[in-house]
Amino acid sequence: MPLSKITVELTNAPKNKPDNDKLGFGKYFTDHMFILDYDAGKGWHDPRIVPYQPIALDPAAKVFHYGQTVFEGMKAYKTPENSILLFRPYKNLQRLNRSSARLSIPHIDEGLVIEALKQLILVDKDWIPDEQGTSLYIRPFVISTQPTLGVQPSEQYKFMIILSPVGSYYAEGINPVNIFVESEYVRAVTGGIGNAKTGGNYAAGLKAQQEATEKGYSQVLWLDGVHRKYIEEVGSMNVFFKVGDKVITPALNGSILDGVTRDSVIRLLKHWKIEVEERTISIDELVDAYRGGQLKEAFGTGTAAVISPIGELNWQGDKLTLNGGKTGELSARVYEFMTGLQRGLIEDPFGWIE
Ligand code: PMP
Repeated sequence: MPLSKITVELTNAPKNKPDNDKLGFGKYFTDHMFILDYDAGKGWHDPRIVPYQPIALDPAAKVFHYGQTVFEGMKAYKTPENSILLFRPYKNLQRLNRSSARLSIPHIDEGLVIEALKQLILVDKDWIPDEQGTSLYIRPFVISTQPTLGVQPSEQYKFMIILSPVGSYYAEGINPVNIFVESEYVRAVTGGIGNAKTGGNYAAGLKAQQEATEKGYSQVLWLDGVHRKYIEEVGSMNVFFKVGDKVITPALNGSILDGVTRDSVIRLLKHWKIEVEERTISIDELVDAYRGGQLKEAFGTGTAAVISPIGELNWQGDKLTLNGGKTGELSARVYEFMTGLQRGLIEDPFGWIE
């Protein structure tokens, strides 16, 4: 599939761009989108950039019934000099293909997708907000479109990329959140689809999230589905704990998503000569560390917030307050470094910026 074959149809009805303070998350979409079709026997074909628009699907399309779909989430940033930066985009596209493999969705050439993504961003570059903390959120995704109700992998798919200018996650500075440790519902189990970025995992998490919100908590801390005692993730972020002088994070076990921010933070901490352990961590171990005064900080990592410090953990009614409910020193240091790197404000020692 030659790259020169990406056709471009520009809109003749450009939309008004929202003000920076109205952006929020995923509410507005740019003027164009990218589409690529798949048919069994033909492979992926017809890469095209077209005006942003609704798509028509048969009500029997498999995605509506069996959830055979995967997605990604990444960001483009505008520097003060008006360059456009991507952060480790290949990592996201490799993960897209790993998610696809788990959901029996055909592999997509990562080089083609990067090329398409760059072209699409250039077409809509005026939509990238440039205020501190804002960015262009990139949502690549695949849906199964074959209109038949048999429970088999689809023979037709659409891959699309849509773009959304998003506001600053922390309008008033980086802020800790309170977390409810979930002991009734689980998000995923090893052998299931927890390590794939697919809709079903997010649908499975909504109920717990809703109940946590009703109790006044921002997110839940997920425990494993078998023993109900090992830490997995926090909301839709990976999770890190500073215990004594060390940092610990759950090892990737098949039910945890392999976060790009997680991997970057592990490498950054090691670069700073801070000891990091990836291993199983039980809730009891954390509570013991807390009681012994060793649990210093906790934070979530993900593309949306980058770093989200945890101020309080509620474990079966016991409230564990971390670092006096304030953003810890390490959380703040990692946040400053990562966001500075992503915006091109500091030198990139890792070769992550494109
Ligand atoms: N876990 C889950 C379940 C997620 O949805 C995300 C967001 N993609 C993450 C972790 C963090 O991954 P990343 O750092 O790649 O955004």
